[in-house]
Amino acid sequence: MARTALVTGGSRGIGAAISKALKAEGYNVAATYAGNDEAASVFTEETGIKTYKWNVADYEASKAGIAQVEADLGPVDIVVANAGITRDAPFHKMTPEQWHQVVDTNLTGVFNTVHPIWPGMRERKFGRVIVISSINGQKGQFAQVNYAATKAGDLGIVKSLAQEGARAGITANAICPGYIATEMVMAVPEKVRDSIISQIPTGRLGEPEEIARCVAFLASEESGFINGSTISANGGQFFV
Ligand code: NDP
Repeated sequence: MARTALVTGGSRGIGAAISKALKAEGYNVAATYAGNDEAASVFTEETGIKTYKWNVADYEASKAGIAQVEADLGPVDIVVANAGITRDAPFHKMTPEQWHQVVDTNLTGVFNTVHPIWPGMRERKFGRVIVISSINGQKGQFAQVNYAATKAGDLGIVKSLAQEGARAGITANAICPGYIATEMVMAVPEKVRDSIISQIPTGRLGEPEEIARCVAFLASEESGFINGSTISANGGQFFV
């Protein structure tokens, strides 16, 4: 029977490419989103992938949503914690609200997503946890103290889960994308975008599908010895 994969923030941007790639690999896929009903319904119409709405920052909502996904599609064997937001400001202007919104979504959201799924993975002796971090969690970024802290924290989650899950057949890995051509990046003024691109040795933005291919690789049965790793997919912009 096909395994079930859950992709948070799986209806738009990088997450949508991940959902489609996993479906193409033959998994049952559930894609979640926060509030953009229109994008989610267009996505389902185009792809046939079922979408679910809940806020990853809310533990009880995540738990209930995951229970619904499992009732509909079967136990989740592959979880991709992709949902994320930015609330940028230089540190001296950053508000506690901007700090908490980003921490609640990008860091606590990963806990809320993986924690309800983890016991089932342990019982079934199989699991793939894949967290979408960021180049800016590796190197820091001006006006992103909140975002960089959460994305670095996500790497800590992955490295710890890798150790806890290994004996139970569970792997946990992270992908750190560089700048990817999603709506978010395409919306910045052309001049700013050109300056971003000029810092990427490959000379272009990444495509969402290039991140999705990394996820499909890590999700597979054959990737069982890759555990606690960070894949940097950034066009050569930063080396760890
Ligand atoms: P988008 O803004 O295009 O899409 C974000 C997705 O996450 C949407 O489906 C959105 O739902 C969902 N989402 C946001 N907040 C929540 C929440 N609280 N609860 C549930 N779902 C939520 O993002 P990207 O595709 O650009 O980014 C995806 C991931 O990749 C993020 O973690 C981001 O930090 C990371 N990343 C992106 C890079 C880039 O260049 N784009 C670079 C490096 C990392 P809805 O549609 O309802 O809003």
